[in-house]
Amino acid sequence: MPIVGFTWTKMDNGRVLEFAAPLAEAPEYFERNGLMPAEAVLALASECGDERRTAGCGVSASMLDRGTTCRREVLINRYMDNWVDPRKLWDAEEGTLIHHVLFSTGGLPGWEREYLIPNERHANHPKVRSPKPGVWEYEIFPGVWLSGRVDKVKDDWSELHDFKTQRYSATDRGVKHDWRVQLNAYRFMLEDLEGVTVKAMKVWKIMRGSYDHNKTFKAYSEPDQVLLMDRAVWAEGPELNGRGGVREFAQEMTQLLEDCEKAEDKEGFIRLLPLDGKAMFTSRKDPGQCKCRDWCSVRPTCDRIQIGFGY
Ligand code: SF4
Repeated sequence: MPIVGFTWTKMDNGRVLEFAAPLAEAPEYFERNGLMPAEAVLALASECGDERRTAGCGVSASMLDRGTTCRREVLINRYMDNWVDPRKLWDAEEGTLIHHVLFSTGGLPGWEREYLIPNERHANHPKVRSPKPGVWEYEIFPGVWLSGRVDKVKDDWSELHDFKTQRYSATDRGVKHDWRVQLNAYRFMLEDLEGVTVKAMKVWKIMRGSYDHNKTFKAYSEPDQVLLMDRAVWAEGPELNGRGGVREFAQEMTQLLEDCEKAEDKEGFIRLLPLDGKAMFTSRKDPGQCKCRDWCSVRPTCDRIQIGFGY
């Protein structure tokens, strides 16, 4: 959050028509205007309230890779009221919604699903804090508070799996670096908190829009994808595509969140951030695709606060 409402624009004979509704009214409004079924709007609205990503909380496991995290997006999501186009949010949240559907009917016995790390059972751990009700964080480095939600973990903590949903691509690019960083963050937190060794990890890739059913689901596990990273390499590097290790970026993000928390003029603070997201997400592999233009859900807010920011 804070997403306060949904917007929708469309061209009509050269004119831009705008629709907007506050979050509570959005399902009925979008249904009535034939823009989106109420159920889809409700499903999106239910994903807008992850307390772990609100003001006053630390970093999450999905934002530890310098190469894929837009600092501006993180701050806009936490500190500004956002009116969001639900079509872009659908793109961003489709994977999460698919996970919910998969998990709504249960799963194999002996596994926990959508498991928060840490959680209330770690409340007495000396390095666990709860910055607000229902949010638990682990001090992974001094002053760096981290939380995560892993898709599947075995009851004895020996194995964890994560589901990643992507648009179909004929080229198999394997496991992305930011996924490895994220999975190992879950792993190291579990090992520290439970005193166990995570022996195996698996990424299930789910391809949306695949016409080849053989390619819709694909599992990546050890040893071919080198999912289990050495902890020192995970934390300190060496440099991988200029990204470095997790520690340095997590400390930067933590400082940024604390500085923004203290800033009286949050919008002014965010405006002064360099537009590294724009450069970062201009895809070299596919010049026709760019996060800033094509799927960043907070782009309307980002554009509004950025003088001269255009495409
Ligand atoms: S539009 Fe681009 S620069 Fe702005 S928040 Fe989104 S990814 Fe970051």
